[in-house]
Amino acid sequence: VQNALEVRDLNISYKVPGGKLRALRDINLNVPRGEIVGLVGESGCGKTTLMQTILGLQSSAAVTESGQIMLGDTDLLTLRPKQMRNLLGDRISAVFQDPMKSLNPVLTIGRQMTDIQFRHNISQREKRDRAVEMLQKVRIPDPESRLDQYAFEFSGGMRQRIAIAMALMAEPDVLVADEPTTALDATLELTTIDLLRDLQQDIGCAIIFITHHLGVVAELCQSVNIMYAGEMVESGPTRAVFDAPQHPYTELLFNCDPAQIPERTRHLPTIGGELPSLINLPPGCVFEGRCPKAFGPCAEIHPRRVQSGGSDMVKCHLRDPEVPQ
Ligand code: SF4
Repeated sequence: VQNALEVRDLNISYKVPGGKLRALRDINLNVPRGEIVGLVGESGCGKTTLMQTILGLQSSAAVTESGQIMLGDTDLLTLRPKQMRNLLGDRISAVFQDPMKSLNPVLTIGRQMTDIQFRHNISQREKRDRAVEMLQKVRIPDPESRLDQYAFEFSGGMRQRIAIAMALMAEPDVLVADEPTTALDATLELTTIDLLRDLQQDIGCAIIFITHHLGVVAELCQSVNIMYAGEMVESGPTRAVFDAPQHPYTELLFNCDPAQIPERTRHLPTIGGELPSLINLPPGCVFEGRCPKAFGPCAEIHPRRVQSGGSDMVKCHLRDPEVPQ
């Protein structure tokens, strides 16, 4: 399968007093066309920086040291801000945990939805019809009259569904979904996930789904990527990674009966110990300080990427056939 989006060897750091905080190191991420790809990791793992970099929304303190983010044939990292803004909402778009990040409080929903289509040469009537159709798809009752209402007149769940409708309006190649269901209660979360999956199949876009909720990953994502302290530590098909995690960190996260997947905790389990400093990185494995399986080379040598079990990539000495066990 061709990739809709591909992150290659991405390194991002932040300038901080006293040095450089190496937020993302050697990140690789494949997002195949039309697939939903999960991105999992605890706070501080770098998933927010990765998401912001993909969307061209990184802070001014962020420095791209190296790497590429390929959307088809375009390297997003080489685009000027204006070129990036043109792609946003069109070929790549986003939904966030807080739908108000996408909705304008002072414009009607209809106005915002027709504005998105400004690049497309169609009549106002057609734009309105298309907005109604999208609202129907996200199950907003009585969409024709609700187009003239403002965001505050909708419930939280409806606002998130409207944000999803707006993000998919232009049928983008890639949707970045950053914890879009985390703020919703369990029932609404399930409805929203179903809807997102239906729309995704309808439109055929790829989704990068960032979440803390492993049940949602099991339910929704074809592949999963696990981040830890600014590195990708394991990637592979969801089923294989859940059934036989290859990295000790993934194992700790997924340490649960596979039959229980849909009921899995909404939040990642807490693991004892501390994250390493990203300003003074340890020479060895980033997980060494917390890893119950650490051995000989772990504190001194940084593990390389290897393929292991059903996983496409794992960064751990235990899985490296060239490391004496
Ligand atoms: Fe644990 Fe060593 Fe593997 Fe790192 S390389 S995850 S410390 S076993």
